[in-house]
Amino acid sequence: MNESKEDQQKDFIREQIELDLNSGRHDKIITRFPPEPNGYLHIGHAKSICLNFGVAKEFAGDCHLRFDDTNPAKEEQKFIDAIQRDVEWLGFNWGDKVYFASDNFNELYSYAEKLVSAGLAYVDDLSAEEIREYRGTLTEAGTNSPFRDRGVEENLNLFRRMKAGEFENGSRVLRAKIDMSSGNMNLRDPVIYRITKASHPRTGKEWNIYPTYDFAHGQTDAIEGITHSLCTLEFEDHRPLYDWFIKNLPVPTKPKQYEFSPLNLTNTILSKRRLSRLVESEAVSGWDDPRMPTISGLRRRGVPAFSIRDFVSRLSIGKSEGIVETAMFDHCVRDYLNKNSERRMAILKPLKVVIENYPEGETEEFDALNHPGDERLGTRKVPFSKEIYVERDDFMEDPPKKFFRLGLGREVRLRFAYFITCTEFIKNEDGEVVELRCTYDPDSRGGNAPDGRKVRGTIHWVSAAHAVPAEVRLYEHLFENSEDGNRDNFLEHINPNSCEVLKDCLLEPSLSNASSTATVQFERTGYFCLDDEDSDDSKLVFNRTVSLRDSWEKTNK
Ligand code: ATP
Ligand code: MG
Repeated sequence: MNESKEDQQKDFIREQIELDLNSGRHDKIITRFPPEPNGYLHIGHAKSICLNFGVAKEFAGDCHLRFDDTNPAKEEQKFIDAIQRDVEWLGFNWGDKVYFASDNFNELYSYAEKLVSAGLAYVDDLSAEEIREYRGTLTEAGTNSPFRDRGVEENLNLFRRMKAGEFENGSRVLRAKIDMSSGNMNLRDPVIYRITKASHPRTGKEWNIYPTYDFAHGQTDAIEGITHSLCTLEFEDHRPLYDWFIKNLPVPTKPKQYEFSPLNLTNTILSKRRLSRLVESEAVSGWDDPRMPTISGLRRRGVPAFSIRDFVSRLSIGKSEGIVETAMFDHCVRDYLNKNSERRMAILKPLKVVIENYPEGETEEFDALNHPGDERLGTRKVPFSKEIYVERDDFMEDPPKKFFRLGLGREVRLRFAYFITCTEFIKNEDGEVVELRCTYDPDSRGGNAPDGRKVRGTIHWVSAAHAVPAEVRLYEHLFENSEDGNRDNFLEHINPNSCEVLKDCLLEPSLSNASSTATVQFERTGYFCLDDEDSDDSKLVFNRTVSLRDSWEKTNK
């Protein structure tokens, strides 16, 4: 998995492109990423984005950003904006090549009239339900609609009146006249225009009829001059229809469709329809909830764009459907952050420590390395004083032998500072330990004792007088069981522990200047990032990007 790109076998799409360029079938390739603006992009889309923009770059072609905006009932401007923001953030640039299927509504309409005039399309008055019944099944041929043999003039007249808004939603459709007994269900007279009286984000109320995906997609590809139309496997059975339209219409170019396997991930959902149900039911706080597998959710959680590109580059572009473990994605995130993120100290569950022999009122500063393995990342100052906080878990009243942290009489190193030894602990009325009393060794400044005595444990800390309070949110998978996101009742299976909120965290003061675009490692705890949306002058909120442990690496490397 660490192979360089050169060592990897070329996938079938790159092979095809190479073939088409070498044979002179194309001088230049043009691909497109064609989202429907009915939701936010998710990490599955990132696979398609990296592939489409990636091959265009590798072969000196173009990649268009195309909005497949043919269903105004579900599409919104806010989704168009979010999609552009996310593609850009992922690191891809479409230049001036942003297109909308709706830009071609006139052209598409005239193509449809051409099919009608050629006797290759008809207006059907059957209801959606009846059309379904007449379609037959995989083992039984369909039945011709009683309206299938309408004359060309009548069809043209009805189709124009559909366009003019004379009929109600759902009362009629335009269908291609292909073959009701075809073994491929998509060729059993597919619907190509439906009546939808709804305002469109770009064309407003101009249209009363809209083309279906199948009709719009290939013709839009042809109008834009797309050479390789790359989509996911579920469209494989639509390819004969794609080709049928291209063959029967006077389109300016002849694009070809190629299908590759979609990304599926464990413990989450990669389907806009299902993700929008999560949002609508308020099971999450929005499309950018940090638990969401959306690009904006991942960004808000602190995942760098590089990690998404890196993850996607490790996926195979093939024909076999599989499911990828979320642990592999987390591994890519850790891999990058371990090398690149600055270290900070933060106490998530504070326990107060008073250092009894440290001078009252004194403060000193330590130079702390921002990254243990990369001096180029520099240092910062960390203040120290008589009262500090450590993690509650770093003390045990009755510790086993191998607990190399604090216990009565035990000595530990405070990261960058001194050795301290616990001399006493204080409990509250409920019997909880609420404070430790310690002594420090002034000669151990910087973390080593002059007498060379060894201290096994090093713990992190913050100075009580200087610490910055914060809320920290710990995220777990949206679904505890890997496949629960695929259940029909997935809303009932959301992991109740997917978001744990810790309200009384204390951070080293340098974190008051944290940025939402620079994920840091809280030493010994995990990787975290400022939440821009929920932080304000009175409250800092941090999101856990990913924990430190890596279960995937252990089993797969
Ligand atoms: P969803 O299935 O999540 O609703 P979609 O296919 O309806 O997504 P589109 O906006 O039409 O969403 O998708 C844009 C492009 O992204 C399509 O070409 C589609 O093939 C691709 N795509 C969608 N999901 C995945 C995925 N999981 N893996 C790879 N590519 C995907
Ligand atoms: Mg889809």
